[in-house]
Amino acid sequence: MVARVVSPAETKSPERQAREDLAACHRLVERFGWTELIYNHATARVPGKPGHMLVKPDRILYQQVNASNLLECDLDGNLPPGSPVINRTVPVIHGAIYKARPDVNAILHTHTPAGMAVSSMECGLLPLNQTAMQFHNRIGYHEFMGVAENFDECTHIVKALSTHGALVLRNHGLLTVGSSISQAFVRLFYLERCCESQVMLMTAAANNNTAIRMPDPKVVEETAKLWDKDTMQREWPAYVTLLDREEPDFRD
Ligand SMILES: [Zn+2]
Repeated sequence: MVARVVSPAETKSPERQAREDLAACHRLVERFGWTELIYNHATARVPGKPGHMLVKPDRILYQQVNASNLLECDLDGNLPPGSPVINRTVPVIHGAIYKARPDVNAILHTHTPAGMAVSSMECGLLPLNQTAMQFHNRIGYHEFMGVAENFDECTHIVKALSTHGALVLRNHGLLTVGSSISQAFVRLFYLERCCESQVMLMTAAANNNTAIRMPDPKVVEETAKLWDKDTMQREWPAYVTLLDREEPDFRD
């Protein structure tokens, strides 16, 4: 494919930029292997319209998402007449969070094997390494209440997430939020990686009858405070450049 050349003088509306970023995010979620068929969801608040969000049509693949085919709905999931359908759990999970957290502009949710595994561990996510320490006392846990199609669940999701940037949906999967699409994406990268690492470690330790060494709690908290300062914006441009070279139609 030929990379699309973007003139420095080309100006985009904030909504157009959000559409391109969210389309890029879908392509990257697919590249990292975090999709579950057509399901799960990545959404973004529409810039200038805090009561509206962008979401992919339910029945297309993540690699088919582009800036133009993302749908705009309100936070209760209402779409313009004649629109394709969206996943029924989007307004319950994402709509509730956008209503409760004005600082949140993007939300990602996955059902990866490692994420589902850790979501079902009584211990939850452990601060086993310096990457995982960013989530120490900074991640919520939401009990499984059935498939999230009932708006009664919204208050429980919001309460569990609290002011955190990440949420474990028990016996279900993972969720991250961010002030930007890039922050939610990078945070999900680290959360997925930590879950994979924890599953690998626990399996290896059990198979080899080896104890797991936990770090000093004081050092864990100090390390978490360092992570708190990371806005997670640096990585995104490099990946967008990769997409511009290898699958530029995400901007269509
Ligand atoms: Zn889910």
